[in-house]
Amino acid sequence: MIYLDHNATTPLAPGVIAAMLPVMTGVWANSSSQHGPGQEAKRVLATARATVARVLGCKPVEVIFTSGATESNHLAVRGLLAGAAPGRQRVLFSRVEHSAHLRLAKALAAAGVEVDFFPVLPCGQLDLVAAKAMLGPDVALVSMMAANNETGVLMPVAEMADLAHAAGALLHLDATQFIGKLPFDFVHFGADAVSLSAHKFRGPKGVGALLLRQGAPLVPQSLGSQERGRRGGTENLPGIVGLAAALDLLGDLADEAARVAQLRDSLEAGLQNALPTTHVWCQSQARLPGTSYLRFGHLSVDVVLQRLERLHVAASSGAACSSGGSEPSHVLRAMGVPDDEALAAVRFSLGATTTPEDVAYVLRELPPLLAPLLQDELTLT
Ligand code: PMP
Repeated sequence: MIYLDHNATTPLAPGVIAAMLPVMTGVWANSSSQHGPGQEAKRVLATARATVARVLGCKPVEVIFTSGATESNHLAVRGLLAGAAPGRQRVLFSRVEHSAHLRLAKALAAAGVEVDFFPVLPCGQLDLVAAKAMLGPDVALVSMMAANNETGVLMPVAEMADLAHAAGALLHLDATQFIGKLPFDFVHFGADAVSLSAHKFRGPKGVGALLLRQGAPLVPQSLGSQERGRRGGTENLPGIVGLAAALDLLGDLADEAARVAQLRDSLEAGLQNALPTTHVWCQSQARLPGTSYLRFGHLSVDVVLQRLERLHVAASSGAACSSGGSEPSHVLRAMGVPDDEALAAVRFSLGATTTPEDVAYVLRELPPLLAPLLQDELTLT
């Protein structure tokens, strides 16, 4: 199988498995226990925390381990909102956040919180002018992603951090798609809170972190003594060790990003050359290196995915979490893309395991399967 769905999840790196196994078999005590094995688990936890802090450029106390980005996002938004001053109770999201995050926004609105959404431009970029106009003295928090999971577009984080801070608001960054693909530094990015999920960068599923700037006023959402009282619950130590190992194994991301971007660009160029009605969204924007979001004419994504399945190629229709439905992508809608085009959206996401041979195979096998269908489409219209 050729796996071109790295934005949905990634295979565990062998080095991650090697780091986790001894913890699963040997370090199973509770890190809150006073006895020797418990203290050993506590040391392993502290080492993992120090690794995460070193790789991501924050302090160890600024790392809160969670069950993944969805929980981190909830903790950041609910926790920072609860910690904000009574006169600052409005939250701003972008329209192109992850579908789970938009559900949170809707749940907050249904519970009476003032929630607003700032738009994106047709190119997929956040509309900073509109966002600036929406920022007032009543805003507690801006919550936005660092890179979009569908289009791959990199968002203007530093600019938004400046705008939010100038208005006295905090910035929460969902960096789930960014971390592991491009170099990241907590201080440099300027956000007050940052969410990440280990399985997006070859770590295990069900573990993530919220990086929280020291001093940011967070009200915990699950009560307990762990994580300095900010996230109760016995820590998932093998998962946390796996997360830290995955980050440590990333090494210098610049070279890998360039390699993956080159493969992505050759995939896009080859498809556009063989099938001229191929349209790539956000192609001229700064994007995640491996993400390609495109349509073949108006061919339904289901038809394209069926053909890819036949070829044993795994790709996706935009966000994996919302696939299976026939609703057009909310991201493309927010960009003003008509529904008939959005329903044709296919996402290829290349990553660490992608080889030039994978791309050559898709370019050799896919166009002959789609060309007759696209020809039919032309004669029908
Ligand atoms: N945010 C973004 C941008 C994502 O892409 C994802 C995963 N698809 C999540 C949040 C949620 O991550 P998890 O399912 O690991 O909690």
